[in-house]
Amino acid sequence: MDNKQLMSIFTDTAYVRTGGSPQELKCAQYLQQKCKELGLNAQLEPFKVPVAYINSATLEVDGKAVECKGYLCCGSGTVEAPLYYLTNTDSYSLSLCKGKIVMIDTYLRHWVYQDLLKYGAVGFITYDGNANYSDCDIDHRELRKQVHNGNRLLGVNINAKSAIAIINSGATTAKITIDQVESEADSHNVVLDIPGEIDQTIVFTAHYDSTSLSQGAYDNMTGSVGILAIAEYFASHPHRHSLRFVWCGSEERGLLGAKAYCADHKDELDNIVLNINLDMIGSIMGNFIACCTSEEKLVHYIQYFAKEVGRGITARQDVYSSDSTPFADNGIPAVSFARLAPSNTATIHNSYDTMAVIKAEHIQQDIDFIIAFANRMANAVMLPVERTMPDNMKDKLDLYLCRRRDKR
Ligand SMILES: [Zn+2]
Repeated sequence: MDNKQLMSIFTDTAYVRTGGSPQELKCAQYLQQKCKELGLNAQLEPFKVPVAYINSATLEVDGKAVECKGYLCCGSGTVEAPLYYLTNTDSYSLSLCKGKIVMIDTYLRHWVYQDLLKYGAVGFITYDGNANYSDCDIDHRELRKQVHNGNRLLGVNINAKSAIAIINSGATTAKITIDQVESEADSHNVVLDIPGEIDQTIVFTAHYDSTSLSQGAYDNMTGSVGILAIAEYFASHPHRHSLRFVWCGSEERGLLGAKAYCADHKDELDNIVLNINLDMIGSIMGNFIACCTSEEKLVHYIQYFAKEVGRGITARQDVYSSDSTPFADNGIPAVSFARLAPSNTATIHNSYDTMAVIKAEHIQQDIDFIIAFANRMANAVMLPVERTMPDNMKDKLDLYLCRRRDKR
């Protein structure tokens, strides 16, 4: 793909495509068509995801309406209670949650939600956006099944400017009313096989869905274009290992596509020897990284290899918050490549994630390096990476997947 063809994909996919939506399916079919244009036959694999349609959601603070979006899948009803801003998560601060509608900073993470339940909160308010931006956008958040486990509280998301105004006014009461219809829909993985000489398979992944305000150009049409270009390369170059390409749906909703892939292909996982994941490459600004959820030797291999081919890289051993994680959790060594932009030059999960933050030459540079690395792996007589997950990574996976809580 030349720069023009590459950038046309971003123009074609400049729309919001949340997991399970018709727009996400449209993008899956588009990627399938792009494969077809390369003479490659990709399949759509559906999997079920929860969806909700919000009829109405309101927040009143001291009797005054505040613009909000109701949490998807948090149920319907009304809750009215004193308002409490949880600024710290020590047990004293948490003890004041009882019977309150609790405002928290940042995301509604798994353990924060468990704390809200444990300490008797009756509803919650989160906020996002940025008080210094000119917009008043509000992301459409979801109370994830793996977070609530059947114990649901009504919650709304508001803009950071509203959150500041509420706390600054000294408000003391809140009322949340939500009416929503909840059901299930299909999200899709787009799967492409390019068989090699042996059954042992390297799986390339990149998610193509976006969050509710975002065109997801940087996060992650860049990675989707990346693995498309890698597929194009290997379609006409020899490779010993079999190659599989998976454009994952619903990554932004908790890695649901990669999890569904691993569950639906359980019998084939033994044959998968490596996962190469691309999530956010080609930004104008930022540094190139490789995050290896594998034995540490792969980190050193990549550091050596980057020097050999003349590319700066920061490689580390860690869990990456992307589709590589379900593969790693199934014992498959995984490496995620990304070019990470400082957040004041490119942000994600908001309306600023457009093709304006990426650069065709940088995408090509990143793809070139990943192809060079993948070529070594794909043609290895014996894959150098051990197919094991070391204990320190198993431990990090337990923390990331909230099976265990960090004591700190
Ligand atoms: Zn992403």
